[in-house]
Amino acid sequence: MPDPKPDPETFRAELRGWLERNAPKSLAGATGGELDGIWGGRKATWPNPDAKRWLDACAERGFTAPEWPRAYGGGALSREEAKVLRQELGRLRMPPPLIGFGLTMIGPVLLQFGTEEQKQEHLPKVCRGEIRWCQGYSEPGAGSDLAGLQTRAVLAKPSGSSDGDHYIVNGQKIWTSYADQADWMFCLVRTDPNAKKQEGITFLLFDMETPGVSVKPIALISGSSPFCETFLTDVRVPVGNVVGKVNGGWTVAKALLAHERTMIADAFGGGGGGGRGRGLAATARDALGVEADGRLADASLRHRIAQAEMDTRAFVLTTQRARDAAKAGHAPGSESSIFKIYGTELNQRRMELLVSIAGPQALGWEGPGFDERELDVTRQWLRSRGNTIEGGTSEVQLNIIAKRVLGLPD
Ligand SMILES: Cc1cc2nc3c(=O)[nH]c(=O)nc-3n(C[C@H](O)[C@H](O)[C@H](O)COP(=O)(O)OP(=O)(O)OC[C@H]3O[C@@H](n4cnc5c(N)ncnc54)[C@H](O)[C@@H]3O)c2cc1C
Repeated sequence: MPDPKPDPETFRAELRGWLERNAPKSLAGATGGELDGIWGGRKATWPNPDAKRWLDACAERGFTAPEWPRAYGGGALSREEAKVLRQELGRLRMPPPLIGFGLTMIGPVLLQFGTEEQKQEHLPKVCRGEIRWCQGYSEPGAGSDLAGLQTRAVLAKPSGSSDGDHYIVNGQKIWTSYADQADWMFCLVRTDPNAKKQEGITFLLFDMETPGVSVKPIALISGSSPFCETFLTDVRVPVGNVVGKVNGGWTVAKALLAHERTMIADAFGGGGGGGRGRGLAATARDALGVEADGRLADASLRHRIAQAEMDTRAFVLTTQRARDAAKAGHAPGSESSIFKIYGTELNQRRMELLVSIAGPQALGWEGPGFDERELDVTRQWLRSRGNTIEGGTSEVQLNIIAKRVLGLPD
């Protein structure tokens, strides 16, 4: 008989002792959000060495991927224990030890579709934060219509042989977030140009240092430049790097998108609780003052703030309930589109409110006259516009909900 799992409260007591010894105080309160979390990878720099110490300590306990199997570097925690871990990190205001597309996108997909060799090769490196991944899906002519992608992979067959041991990949990807920081790419390529478009696609992995891969950053209005164009010219990729079946990549691609949408929704619901920083009401009280009865001085903003705070609370509770109700090992499906559209549009509403509260102070870009928090609001507000585009636009999510969740006709 397997050992009974320790109950979550025993785990909590033990965990508190471990955190006391291992959680660096200098990281408490660091936001750990998408913009400044610990991403790891070969190119990572560690301005605060405590971030690396925190990553290494957590990776050793399997806490970077709490629910993944031990054999692949995970913590083998139960659902309840993983929830306790999140609660305790939240209580101490510790950032996640590691974030990134390895943990949230390609890792879960390899667990579901990867060969044993692929799991052994890639998952432990993801858990230790050694390899940072990027996503090569979109192309200049293929965004919402992703299945229209044109990047070609041709099997190179030595003369006299009917088999090949590698593909030659040619094409261009665009909007590849952090491609310039990433070590490996998961990529969709066309392997059968004559098949129906969804049926001629294959899911490939390759090292960004492979000859023929070049990356060009794209500057954005928000001042940051997470995006890149990625050019692929005669890139040799071993056939062993195909995930799932040749020409069966569309199934893998869709499963990964469900994980991506869940990750984006979690950033505004399950994890972040509706955006970084302080609550809307506290920010408004400081900026606009209060009346004698303690209510916000600006009556027109009161209602909008109360509504946004209630909607945020309801969303956080709903994502938590969905997470608790899901069976262990459950892979998200089309319902992830509901969380994605609601979470991202709610975040945009919150950012609009923060800008309304700050008034002209939210229009700063740099220089004197604006403090760091105000400049951060401007940048986050601009960045939030992309939330309803990345991982599939809101219109695409509505189409998925209509077709796959509600079963409405085309
Ligand atoms: C912040 C951010 C990060 C990103 N990171 C990555 C990444 O790492 N890797 C990657 O591969 N891609 C990435 N993308 C690209 C993203 O996936 C695409 O931008 C997205 O899928 C939309 O494609 P598009 O930009 O070509 O717009 P289009 O597909 O051209 O859409 C234009 C407009 O038409 C609407 N539209 C299109 N088709 C329909 C339809 N059938 N019904 C209703 N409306 C429709 C869209 O909703 C949109 O409003 C990122 C995008 C953003 C904003």
